[in-house]
Amino acid sequence: MTAELERVVVVGASLAGLRAAETLRNEGFDGEVVVIGAEPHRPYDRPPLSKKLLAGEWEPDRIQLRQAGAFDELDVSWRLGVAAAGLDLDERRLHLTDGETVDFDGCIIATGALCRRLPEQSRYGHVHELRTLDDSMRLRTAIADGGHHVVVIGAGFIGLEVAATARQLGNEVTVLEGASAPLIRGLGAEMGAAIGAMHEARGVAVRCDVRVDRLHDDGVLLEGGELVESDVVVVGIGVTPATQWLGDSGLELRDGVVCDETLRARRDDGAAVPGVYAAGDVLRWMNPLFGEEMRIEHWTNAAEQGAVAARNVLAAAAGADAEEYGAVPFFWSDQFDIRIQFLGRADADDEVAVVAGSIDSGKFLAMYGRDGRLHGALGVNAPRWIMPIRKLLLAQASWDDALSHAATL
Ligand code: FAD
Repeated sequence: MTAELERVVVVGASLAGLRAAETLRNEGFDGEVVVIGAEPHRPYDRPPLSKKLLAGEWEPDRIQLRQAGAFDELDVSWRLGVAAAGLDLDERRLHLTDGETVDFDGCIIATGALCRRLPEQSRYGHVHELRTLDDSMRLRTAIADGGHHVVVIGAGFIGLEVAATARQLGNEVTVLEGASAPLIRGLGAEMGAAIGAMHEARGVAVRCDVRVDRLHDDGVLLEGGELVESDVVVVGIGVTPATQWLGDSGLELRDGVVCDETLRARRDDGAAVPGVYAAGDVLRWMNPLFGEEMRIEHWTNAAEQGAVAARNVLAAAAGADAEEYGAVPFFWSDQFDIRIQFLGRADADDEVAVVAGSIDSGKFLAMYGRDGRLHGALGVNAPRWIMPIRKLLLAQASWDDALSHAATL
């Protein structure tokens, strides 16, 4: 290792940050690694927060991302329960909320995302959001005994996962969505409506095209005056990347920390910033495989990006070529007995075709096409059909080739 890379600081002690720290060590970096995390907890896994942990089937110790021993073996200085408050690019220095500063030679920004909130949300004791372990435990206490009327605002993935878990615990559940169908942003209107119908069939009331006026002591008030009564409200209206602490840094921020193909950050005048990279939900980068800028809010890509950012910090210090992150976006979501898996992208004007199985049977594969090319694929209870599609997306397969592949299923 070159002498100038003595200390690498990772900001954000979650999935992307942990993968970054582990990769630094696995690649032989023997300098100092400092991980700064705003939460008091060591890195834990978020997907169970809306599923097994919320359902009471798992306890918090089950969602730790590594055993205690493995954390210690990493030989990392964990600074937990303290947040980064500012980044000085010229001094290469982080300012922390406790007044301390940490100088660095390399920095990986992995601060994830924060829940969007409704006005005055924190005033109401019965209103919840779901991003952290503490959020999940608080919501779990509120719904565990069943018999509540739970209203979920927002039919995105997390909203629908919470709806499914709450229903399975014996609660009455209503989902309120402003768009014409659930999951429009992730799956498009047609497939989103299909998933919404599956929720209805399992006892969740899904109300689309409704506008929330405001929160209320007795539930949620809709525009037009209707009160949807509820003693537990969950606000699931999406997230914003956690970049508020970078406001004065001079980094380019645009719905995320804007980075190039190698995940390296740049200044707002476009100049590259040596040694500063981003990964995970906070990252907006140019995905060379799709030729588009993207910000992804999913587990697999966050883990991969953490590793790539770490390797590129090391490559830059060694004067070696940087690695591009050209990836197929991937996520899964579990709702009732429905396993959703998605590869690639879904845009509103994509062509969509169910190419194997059927929506009615509850098991199907749908493909999304754009400009004559395969753009994405959705598997519902169809893991064997969906996973081979990754190869087609990596090969930038044409829509016709993708349909020919589907005909063999
Ligand atoms: P995060 O996990 O958000 O972690 C960022 C960390 O940085 C946090 O601990 C935060 O406190 C900390 N931080 C923020 N600001 C600062 C600061 N200034 N200083 C220091 N620390 C800071 N994905 C899937 O693919 N499938 C799923 O089924 C799925 N289910 C999910 C269910 C829930 C309830 C949630 C919340 C997410 C789910 N995800 C799922 C998404 C997945 O968990 C995220 O994509 C992943 O956690 C992103 O990792 P990250 O490290 O980028 O950010």
